[in-house]
Amino acid sequence: MHRLKSILHLRNKIVIKIGTNLLADKVKGINLDRINEIARSVARLNAMGNNIAIVSSGAIGAGVAALRLKERPKTIPEKQATAAIGQPLLMEAYEDAFRKQDCTIAQVLLTKDDFANRARYLNAKNTFPVLFEQGVVPIINENDTVAVEEIKLGDNDNLSALVANLIEADLLIILSDIDGLFSDDPTKNNKAQLIPVVEKISSQIEKLAKSSKTELSTGGMITKIQAAKRCVSAGIAMIIANGKNPNILEEIFSGTFKGTLFLPAENKLNMRKKWIGFVSSAKGYVCIDEGAKLALLTKQKSLLPSGIVEVHGEFKANETISILDLNNKVIAKGVTGYSSTDLVKIKGKKTSEIEKILNRKSHDEVIHRDNLVLIGEPSC
Ligand code: GLU
Repeated sequence: MHRLKSILHLRNKIVIKIGTNLLADKVKGINLDRINEIARSVARLNAMGNNIAIVSSGAIGAGVAALRLKERPKTIPEKQATAAIGQPLLMEAYEDAFRKQDCTIAQVLLTKDDFANRARYLNAKNTFPVLFEQGVVPIINENDTVAVEEIKLGDNDNLSALVANLIEADLLIILSDIDGLFSDDPTKNNKAQLIPVVEKISSQIEKLAKSSKTELSTGGMITKIQAAKRCVSAGIAMIIANGKNPNILEEIFSGTFKGTLFLPAENKLNMRKKWIGFVSSAKGYVCIDEGAKLALLTKQKSLLPSGIVEVHGEFKANETISILDLNNKVIAKGVTGYSSTDLVKIKGKKTSEIEKILNRKSHDEVIHRDNLVLIGEPSC
C-alpha cells in the first residue's frame, strides 16, 4: 500500500464513515466496545496533528433497540421518530468514549439542502476549520428527523463523500463489515479476490458494485462506489476497509491494511466545479442537439441558446441544471444564466436575438464553460 504514502502527509484532513452494521445491533443496541476502539484510534490520530471528522450512522439502529422494535421502521415518520430517539443515545456513547480520551466532540447534523444551497454550503464549510483548530472531532449524521424523502440524501456513504468535499479532505475512509471491493460476490464465489487499488472507476468497476450483495446496511457497495466517484474526481482518495478489525485505522496509517484504495484523479476540478458537479442538485434540465453536444464534449465550448431543443422543469437563473443529449443521456451539469421561462423563449435562437426576445441580455451563453462540468470527466 505504498501508494497511500504519497497521499498522506504529516497532518491530514480525514473523514471516517462508520456504518450501522458496525455500531448498532437491533437487540443489544449501540456497540460500546466498538465506539471505544474507534475513539481510542481517532484520539491518537488527532493528537498527531490530523484533523478527523466522523460520519456516523446508527441513529435509527440505536432507536430500534431502544424501542425494542422487531425490525427497522419502514415509513418515513417512523424512521424520523426512531432517529430522534437514537441520535442522542449515539452521541452519548461517543461523548463517553471520547471523554475517556480527553477529546472534545461536536455534533453536526446535515441535510441535502445544506449542500445544494451554495450559501448554506459555504456557511457549513466555515464551521469545520474552527472546530479543527480547537482539536474537536465533529461527529456528523444526516438530520434524519427533518429529512423527508425529497430532501434526503438517504445514505451516509454519499454524505461522507460530500463532507470530504466540504472540508477538502485528503482521504475518506469508509469502515464497513466487509474487507473492500471484490472481483465477484465473495458470499457466492470463494475465488472472489479483494481489489486492493482502483486507479479509475471504469464501467467494469461499477458493474462489480451492482452484483455485490455482501452487506445489510442502507447502501451496500453501490453507494460506496458513488461516494468514491464524488471523492476521486475532487482529488480525494478513498478507502473501503473492515471496521470489525480494531486496529484498522492504525494499519491504514502504517500502510499495512487490507482493503480497497481508490486513487484520486490527478486533474481534479476546482472548488466551484466540484460543487456544481458533485454537490449541488439539478433543478431541471435541457436537451441539446448534436452540434451543441459536440461543442461541449470536444471543443470546451459554453452552451448557447441555439443548441437547446427542449427545456424541462422550473428553475431560476443561477440554479444548477442538467444537460441531456437527444438520447436523454445526462452529459453535463451547469449553472444556468437564464431561468426556465426565459429559456423556453430563447431556445433554438441565435445569441444576437436574445435581447430582442427578452428585452434584455444578461449573458451571451446559457451556461458559461466556467460554470459547466462534463459528466464522465475528469475521471468518473
Ligand atoms: N442516517 C442513518 C442513521 O443514522 C444511516 C444512514 C446509512 O446507514 O447510510 O441511522
